[in-house]
Amino acid sequence: MDDAMGLKLYQDMLRAEKVALFQWDLATDRLVYDALTAELFPQAVKAEGYSDFLRHWPALHPNDRKWFLCLLDFLSKPHPEYTDGQKEQTIEFRLRDGENEYRWLHAHQLIHFEGARPRYVSFLIRSTDQEHRKQEALRAKAERDPLTGLYNKGASREIIEKALQVPNTKKALLVLDMDGFKKVNDTLGHLFGDAVISDMALSLAEAFDSSDILGRMGGDEFVVLMREAGDRAAIVQRCERLRNELRRSFEYADGKSLAVSGSVGIALAPEHGTHYDELFARADAALYEAKKRGRDTQVFYSPDIEASQRKTAEEDPSMQQRQSLLEQPVEFIFRMLYETGNARTTVQTLLALFAKYFMVQRVVIYQHIGGKWECWFEWRAEGIRPAAEAHAGPVMDFINSNYRQDIYGWFSECSDTSTVEGPAGEAMQARETYALLHAGIMNRSKRIGCVGFDDCRSPRIWTKKEHEVLKTFADILGTFLMDQMRYDMVRKGYWRLQGIIDTLEGTLWVLSDKTGRLLYMNRKARQALAALGEDLRECHKVETDSNRPCARCRFGNMGPDCPVCRQLRHWIQERGLQPERIGWSDKTDGLLYIDKS
Ligand code: GH3
Ligand code: MG
Repeated sequence: MDDAMGLKLYQDMLRAEKVALFQWDLATDRLVYDALTAELFPQAVKAEGYSDFLRHWPALHPNDRKWFLCLLDFLSKPHPEYTDGQKEQTIEFRLRDGENEYRWLHAHQLIHFEGARPRYVSFLIRSTDQEHRKQEALRAKAERDPLTGLYNKGASREIIEKALQVPNTKKALLVLDMDGFKKVNDTLGHLFGDAVISDMALSLAEAFDSSDILGRMGGDEFVVLMREAGDRAAIVQRCERLRNELRRSFEYADGKSLAVSGSVGIALAPEHGTHYDELFARADAALYEAKKRGRDTQVFYSPDIEASQRKTAEEDPSMQQRQSLLEQPVEFIFRMLYETGNARTTVQTLLALFAKYFMVQRVVIYQHIGGKWECWFEWRAEGIRPAAEAHAGPVMDFINSNYRQDIYGWFSECSDTSTVEGPAGEAMQARETYALLHAGIMNRSKRIGCVGFDDCRSPRIWTKKEHEVLKTFADILGTFLMDQMRYDMVRKGYWRLQGIIDTLEGTLWVLSDKTGRLLYMNRKARQALAALGEDLRECHKVETDSNRPCARCRFGNMGPDCPVCRQLRHWIQERGLQPERIGWSDKTDGLLYIDKS
């Protein structure tokens, strides 16, 4: 290979690698470079006055100027430690190219000393732009959520925390969560759910400024930092615009549809905090409040919200308890009963828990009394109409005629009330009951009541777990709780529910406290008396010509011939029963005797 060929090959290699070599003579302040260097890095070379050129280098990225100022400073001074020697150093910097884009370069500098003074600097410059871009892409990948392209949880925290340190602007941290997303996932599949999430991310990007920071926390939850939030009205306007975008419904089989929307919790900086963790916790508390208020809304954080949530958290069972209700419903219900010692409170608490855990807006217990279905207990979310109104007429007929037996028991189940034809379907739609699952409370083969879940927001497919827990509850109610509660009720003076106390196991009489008059006796007492050969109806007829107990019949002051009173007195004395005071509906006090022996 001759010299010319060798040089050509060498230059081709440098060109291919985008590497250039040049030398700066510090004594003359001149640069020695060849044509290839001028071709590859025209913005890096200048033949004369190179120190001045470096100091004001127009193509240099402003953030990288400091490196060259340091170099100039170093070169301007003697360095005895390098006497007649060399010093190597490297700098990474960005230069603007002909297309007005900054490109990364790497400069390897070799400083030659004469005595203690720097004399020459040799530069070897190469482009590292591609490497940098790859690295940046990798870093971006590490901080991005792959589904939506938004910042992931960790990166959001870091970037928002940094942005919060910029002083003198009002910022707002928003936490956003989809409403009803789980049903989309459960009904239409995870892939469809993914598409909905990425679509949401687009709506989010459209609703906020490009300078705002958007991140996905996971699942259907997002975070936004509005860097220049303005006042509350401006934030509300932004949220409303976003919520309009997020509100959608998805049709699936037979014209059935699922609706989703978005709820937002907002914390303001610096009003509610200046650090990410603090603001996030507060926005999250506000989001919880937005969900509680019925979803598809935005709520600003306020200290009241936190206080009320702390209280609820104290009263509320933990997640562990939820798990235990789902996995061991029988044990859970009995333990709660044991702990509260009160059937009524237990039932009411359980209904609220069911509503929360299964995300239903109405939970009811009906009992069948005197040929009628009476709503015995009810829990419903705010703004939801009472069962008496929602289930009246054709709806109750539908619920009752719709009972079928499945592997778990007897259920009246409807996933989508819009598919129910006739007046029942129309009534359920008009009264906003979109899906229901009611389990029969059975006494042998007879349905004596039911426990029901109503979804008043959208249709839903009832899960196995929901069937199972509801049926367990119905079974417990049917066997143990009903008797227990009937007894409680009688004790509390719900004597007018004659149907209930009639089926109570013990014999029971109610006497007026003031007049001593026999006001009521249950069927058991009547049967017991009848078994003794006394015909009570005859007795009443004889005394008062009616079916009611004798008006003159006074306990302790009865006529000697009244067989009922005679027998009652006998029983009470024999058993040493103590009367319980009870309140009547007409506010007359009474004495209640119960003999459970
Ligand atoms: P709420 O109004 O209370 O927020 O109810 P929701 O139905 O939106 O339910 P929630 O926010 O509690 O549930 C979010 C669900 O998102 C739970 C989980 O199964 C699902 N999920 C989590 N990550 C992903 C994901 O990457 N893709 C999909 N498709 N689903 C996800
Ligand atoms: Mg959600």
